[in-house]
Amino acid sequence: MKKQFAVIGLGRFGGSIVKELNELGMEVLAIDVNEEKVNEYASVATHAVMADTTDENTLRSLGIRNFDHVIVAIGDNIQSSILTTLMLVEIGVDHITVKAQNDYHEKVLSKIGAHKVVHPERDMGIRIAHNLVSKNVLDYLELSDEFSIVEIEAGARVDGYTLIDLDLRAKYGCNIMAVKRGEDINVSPAAEDVLKHGDVLIVIGADRDITRMEQDLF
Ligand code: ADP
Repeated sequence: MKKQFAVIGLGRFGGSIVKELNELGMEVLAIDVNEEKVNEYASVATHAVMADTTDENTLRSLGIRNFDHVIVAIGDNIQSSILTTLMLVEIGVDHITVKAQNDYHEKVLSKIGAHKVVHPERDMGIRIAHNLVSKNVLDYLELSDEFSIVEIEAGARVDGYTLIDLDLRAKYGCNIMAVKRGEDINVSPAAEDVLKHGDVLIVIGADRDITRMEQDLF
């Protein structure tokens, strides 16, 4: 059976989630307090409704409890975002993902029981900064305040070297978890494996060490 999603708040973030879920063939209910937004997404979403989600009765009458996943993408109105999330938790929605505007907002959302809090502007800023430091950084996933996983493309500087030659663990405290070459992915790279220009390395380590490694080698 198709998963059912509801997206509350149809700004740039919520709107792009609705579009993508639709492209992926999912059922998606799009909700916004603003009629223009609802009209804009009427043809993209499975259903689009105008509603103020800070009202518990409204939420219940939408049958929000029956959705597999609800995404709260209310932007600037932090109070509405918090109230909506609290209500969804109380109603007992299985999966609630909420967009946070800042660190305080994030803290409150986690405390009141949001299952996942996302911080798209901050995360994208971090990704872009790493990509600016090294063009070879393709993706960046923050694990905690201190540790991350990065996807780095092997450039000419490491072409033909083995993992022993690079010695990333001793020099940078970083571990190569996997190496992607075209469609192939090697999840247990051996020390004597030779890297090729264009390979994609998936590396785990402390942020500071990763940045040093990016600057030195990639
Ligand atoms: P973004 O930064 O992703 O563009 P915005 O702040 O522009 O986010 O958009 C958030 C959307 O959430 C707006 O379209 C707004 O009308 C909607 N919204 C705000 N409060 C509520 C609410 N109480 N119920 C439903 N939708 C709301």
